[in-house]
Amino acid sequence: MKILVTGGAGYIGSHTCVALAHTQYVPVIVDNYCNSSPAVLQRLALLTGGPVLHEKGDVCDCDFLKNVIQKHEISAVVHFAAHKSAPESLSCPLKYHHNNLTGLLSLLQAMDATGCRTLVYSSSATVYGSPAALPIREDFPRSCATPYGLTKLVGEDILSSLCHSNSEWAIGTLRYFNPVGAHPSGLIGESPAGTPENLMPCITQVAVGKLPHLNIFGSDYPTPDGTAIRDFLHVMDLAEGHIAALHALLEKRRPFTVNLGTGKGQSVLDVVRAFEQATGRQIPINFAPRRPGDTAECWADPSEAHRILGWRATRSLRDMCADAWRWQQQNPGGY
Ligand code: NAD
Repeated sequence: MKILVTGGAGYIGSHTCVALAHTQYVPVIVDNYCNSSPAVLQRLALLTGGPVLHEKGDVCDCDFLKNVIQKHEISAVVHFAAHKSAPESLSCPLKYHHNNLTGLLSLLQAMDATGCRTLVYSSSATVYGSPAALPIREDFPRSCATPYGLTKLVGEDILSSLCHSNSEWAIGTLRYFNPVGAHPSGLIGESPAGTPENLMPCITQVAVGKLPHLNIFGSDYPTPDGTAIRDFLHVMDLAEGHIAALHALLEKRRPFTVNLGTGKGQSVLDVVRAFEQATGRQIPINFAPRRPGDTAECWADPSEAHRILGWRATRSLRDMCADAWRWQQQNPGGY
């Protein structure tokens, strides 16, 4: 069974392709490499033991997608391709609305036209805005503080309206918490272009000497150590969540929306300490003001994902740190 993986050359997409290749599913990557490198394809070939099917192109190009779906006889789609920087979306909202929403609509039109109506969608915990209580359940109210968050929220609504209009659509919406880490081989990992924005790549780039210190945004949050608390999960656990979602959709054909997180909140300082312990490296830190749109605390209730998909995160914060560090050490300049 061939699975179209849009954005499959990116961080989460590439790890999901490895997880897919170890099942009965065969990934077919579509990517325009606007935030990734085609070099990942050779790494994936090494990890999966064979050539990787891929088509270069833009998900906003509906005819291109129709051709790919027909050519490869695609059974289902995992849709990662999107821009993902919340801070950048505040200054370039149209870039986000165009890529994330036009891209989604173009994909859905291509899927509808070709009769391929099984989709796993990358959503985000950002749709919960500043949650009123913790842990966060799927039925909590949604809101958004950034144009990026709005694209995820609107994307979810578009998918829900499709499922209501036609029961042939089987769509799984996955709300990711904070994926970090890398494949344990050190062959693939997060390779941000320019200065990283996410916590773990910043930490690893400090550890490898590319950045002088780690900026921690906000030291006055109402949390035990004053730094923000997030639900960090290993990217391979997240990747396996997509396999579980595909199984559920292809077998039961019932739409669902679930959180993918560990259910445990860890502060930014907890992560820094865990990294220092796992790697023996010291991380100099610098406290900076809070970033607009950031919330104090955010962690998941992942019980729905376990009930519906049988999925649970199993890897520890230490694994996340050790694997991220192995990737950075083996690839100091990224791909
Ligand atoms: P990424 O930027 O590493 O991967 C996205 C991939 O999509 C890249 O390879 C990029 O080149 C490709 N892409 C973007 N626009 C495209 C287009 N128009 N046509 C074809 N390819 C295109 O991002 P990621 O971290 O792997 O995130 C994947 C998905 O998960 C995104 O939808 C993101 O919003 C969502 N998400 C990510 C996080 C996170 O912390 N990384 C958290 C929550 C949700």
